[in-house]
Amino acid sequence: MSGLAALRAPHTLRAMPAAEERRTCTRCVMDTSDPEIVFDAAGVCHHCHAYDQRLAALPASAEAGQRRLQAMVERLRADARGRPYDCVIGLSGGVDSSFVALLLVRELGLRPLAVHLDNGWDTEIAVHNIERLVAALDLDLHTVVLDWPSFADLQRAFLLASVPDCEVPTDHAIIAALFATARRFRIRHVVLGTNLRTESHLPRAWSRGHGDWRYIASVHRRHGSMPLRDFPHQDLWRLAWNRWRLRVHEPLDWIAYRKAAAKQRLIAEIGWGDYGGKHHESIYTRWYQGCYLPRKFGFDKRRAHCSSLICSGELTRAEALRQLAEPPYDPELQAADTRYVARKLGLSEAQMQEIWRAPPRRFADYPSYAGSWWYRCWRWLRHRR
Ligand SMILES: [Zn+2]
Repeated sequence: MSGLAALRAPHTLRAMPAAEERRTCTRCVMDTSDPEIVFDAAGVCHHCHAYDQRLAALPASAEAGQRRLQAMVERLRADARGRPYDCVIGLSGGVDSSFVALLLVRELGLRPLAVHLDNGWDTEIAVHNIERLVAALDLDLHTVVLDWPSFADLQRAFLLASVPDCEVPTDHAIIAALFATARRFRIRHVVLGTNLRTESHLPRAWSRGHGDWRYIASVHRRHGSMPLRDFPHQDLWRLAWNRWRLRVHEPLDWIAYRKAAAKQRLIAEIGWGDYGGKHHESIYTRWYQGCYLPRKFGFDKRRAHCSSLICSGELTRAEALRQLAEPPYDPELQAADTRYVARKLGLSEAQMQEIWRAPPRRFADYPSYAGSWWYRCWRWLRHRR
């Protein structure tokens, strides 16, 4: 606990309104559990307006999307002439990254090098999906295995830090591993499965600092107990250099991407297995999103996921509200996952109780790049491509 004393005065999150007192967007299902949400006169939230703005920047028709795809294919092929791979892709076993692999190989005829980050939490179904994709698409797979003792120490540190950003270390490592693999194999292009239609509406207050190595290192310094070993990471300079050297593409934004249809196609063509909720391909992510975040912070990430699908026309608001009235996932499985997470991370019952009871903190309570001119420079570079 000594690390806490070194922090600035504890920040108190705006008191979470009771469920019946929360104000909900009239278009999506985001509500005042996002402490920074803003509504317009018609009751539409700022996430919906941001979605519309970003959508307007995407190809306006299927033909325009196809032209964008073809332009990417030509550039990848030209830059990879004489080399074995056109690009690097991430492969988690989840639907978005799996569909990118299918799209690139089956429809675009590209030769991606697949990269999987094994952080020790893959479900059997995720492993099955990766094996099926590798076999069916004849992919070369490069697996980056994290050093478990020190990565577990980092995950413990984020729980003990009482911030809602406990998946930030894995998300940071995935991107760092993709960029490092691209450099190692002299590949200039990285293709991601991130997309607007299923991944918009995520509040900063719920999860922040994915690219911020200073934030991750400061949380670990204050709450960790051993040095990190071989953890893929990039400080701001490395990140800026990578963004300068590498081209990042998000092709799911250029096609009429529908998650339900993508799953059906993966099941039919690859023998892919459906793992249920979004990001439930990892046991830790399932527990973090479906148990830890809602119970400790009152943040239910299904709100953001459903809101994205409402805006993209894949889900009705009424159906989303019906889903949100149910528990995030089976309460008995939540209890089993809590025991499993505690045991796997080496957390005692008393430590888990302390983690549940500790007052919520936030990104701004720890040192980070935010506010520095370096950070503004990085933001500029990020939006440059
Ligand atoms: Zn909204």
